[in-house]
Amino acid sequence: MDNNNTLDAYWMGYTANQHFKAHPRLLEKAKGMYYWTPEGRKILDATAGLWCVNAGHNREKIVTAIQQQAATLDFAPAFQMGHPKAFELAKKLVAITPENLNHVFFTNSGSESVDTALKIALAYHQLTGEGRRTRLIGRERAYHGVNFGGMSVGGIAVNRKLFPNLLAQVDHLPHTHDLARNQFSLGVPVYGVDKAERLEQILQLHDPSTVAAVIIEPIAGSTGVLIPPAGYLQRIREICDQYGVLLIFDEVITGFGRLGKPFAADCFNISPDIMVTAKGLTNGAVPMGAVFVSDKIYSAFRQDDPMAINFYHGYTYSAHPLACAAAIGTLETYQEENLLYKASELAEYWQHALHSLADLPYVIDIRNLGLVGAIELEPRKNEPNKRAFQVYLDMFEQGVLVRTTGDVIALSPPLIISKPEVDQIIITLRQVLKQLS
Ligand code: PLP
Repeated sequence: MDNNNTLDAYWMGYTANQHFKAHPRLLEKAKGMYYWTPEGRKILDATAGLWCVNAGHNREKIVTAIQQQAATLDFAPAFQMGHPKAFELAKKLVAITPENLNHVFFTNSGSESVDTALKIALAYHQLTGEGRRTRLIGRERAYHGVNFGGMSVGGIAVNRKLFPNLLAQVDHLPHTHDLARNQFSLGVPVYGVDKAERLEQILQLHDPSTVAAVIIEPIAGSTGVLIPPAGYLQRIREICDQYGVLLIFDEVITGFGRLGKPFAADCFNISPDIMVTAKGLTNGAVPMGAVFVSDKIYSAFRQDDPMAINFYHGYTYSAHPLACAAAIGTLETYQEENLLYKASELAEYWQHALHSLADLPYVIDIRNLGLVGAIELEPRKNEPNKRAFQVYLDMFEQGVLVRTTGDVIALSPPLIISKPEVDQIIITLRQVLKQLS
């Protein structure tokens, strides 16, 4: 078998498999802010893996917690049975989530969390005598993972294209990206609160009493870091309240300190009814997701018969012991180092550094909030996405891992990043962007 064929056994998701297997990019180990390739090249991680390694790589407390747990309790059935760490973790988590979200359902990923949240919303209305509420509202350019519910409320055309059989009772809000009015905004863009009014129109179109929930990413990450305009999320919350529609925040990337507070809900001062998380929950070390719900929703599932099952839903690996141990180690690390608030200390430096790239060729926008950043490039004529992907390849050659989506370079470094490391990202970007064709 030649090298290409050996690599071919692994069908990689969201990857140009032919190109990758001809030019593999491998990461072999990691520590703190860095990865190392098998050849020993040191790569600065400007993306926290995939928006998940918020405390930096291979943190001792998390590694030890996983090792000890693996040697103590490898697995416990998730149905009609529990293990102590699951309850310990749940309690620790609801102590840091927004005040009204006091109950948590465990999953294994962001996608599973999204579909769990949508099912909870639909079931909630059935259980509270509003069974007509079966419609879900998502948003254009939203990413809510790859399962059928998440794809249906998601708004990315290429993800949906091959699947004509998505959920039927779904509508979408317009996205909020508005270069004409908000180009090179510092932090939250000024213009676009008006886009929230579309929710009112969509509700009226379908009859508000048929709508179960609106699901929104506070910041849309996967479609190029779209920061919500000032007042937009607040207005969405008001309209949902007015019509008895549940508001779901998908905080898979914004959760666990990315924006300078524990959750985006805290930053924008909004209480969603349901909050979806994953990624930073375990610092990426073991797959895990978590869906948080309000007392109101949790109590709707209470049964008169104490022997009755509350919700016919769950995963074999919900609250897996290794994931729980990793999450507890992660939360302790976040707390010891104040990482859930750390992004706010660096946000201004980060903003200034990013916007210093505005003079470079093809840069048509720069966006930032907390420790999130995006540089949008003018697409090559008839070759969308290729220019940014070239930046990705060149940056990796120069020792910095970034991420691209479309023609946007997305940055989300671990929250432990230092100012010299911010400078290294910016200096490398400047070198690479200067030579771009
Ligand atoms: N929701 C959002 C907002 C995400 O960004 C992602 C992944 O990037 C998901 C859901 C899906 O998470 P996962 O890949 O863990 O299934």
